[in-house]
Amino acid sequence: MTNFLPLVEQFHSLQGEGYHAGKSAFFVRLAGCRVGCSWCDTKHSWDEKKYPSISIKKIIDRIKIAREKGASFCVITGGEPLQHNLDNFCKAIKQMTMEEDQNSMKIHIETSGVNAISGSFDWITLSPKRHSPPKNYFLKNCNEIKIIINEVKDIEFAIQIKKEILKQYQFSKIQDSLKKEDKIFYLQPAWNNSNGFSLAIDFVKNNPDWKLSLQTHKYLKIK
Ligand code: SF4
Repeated sequence: MTNFLPLVEQFHSLQGEGYHAGKSAFFVRLAGCRVGCSWCDTKHSWDEKKYPSISIKKIIDRIKIAREKGASFCVITGGEPLQHNLDNFCKAIKQMTMEEDQNSMKIHIETSGVNAISGSFDWITLSPKRHSPPKNYFLKNCNEIKIIINEVKDIEFAIQIKKEILKQYQFSKIQDSLKKEDKIFYLQPAWNNSNGFSLAIDFVKNNPDWKLSLQTHKYLKIK
């Protein structure tokens, strides 16, 4: 288990996407991804050798400062962050941010779900990819599902992923969980792809179990 992680950047901003959009958050972007999506908007993060290995203590020092300034959770993203074993990192975040009231910093992760789980998270955003399907663990345990829409095949993939999730549970249980919104299904149009926007909007209009997610940070021109 590592005490160092290759770090692309870390910054305090607003979560731009999904259920927690608009909330104050601290982002830790780890380097390394072998999933290889052609439309990826963080290709610069793929090669972890280009980035310094930073001690998890140093990263957490910045998390603590952001928390004092108002960040309500920390988002571990990438790249594909679960390409690294995150057991030590998550444990250390919880221990080092524990306050007198026993509350520690909440940890969110954004993952494609292709690697084994490590670490423990308060919120899992699963963004599965058509060419590299996620492990069942993530289908069962994610809190939100975010499918990026570029073309019709992505809509078909979204439908298939939802079916896979339904298969993970007894039908009655998932019906209940959907009603309680335990899992939230998002289509997110790929940035600058007008076809993706039309497809996602049309699908969501006709399928109320799905919601539209927009990359609001890009409209706001913030990180
Ligand atoms: S999984 Fe994420 S970081 Fe990796 S290539 Fe795909 S979009 Fe980019």
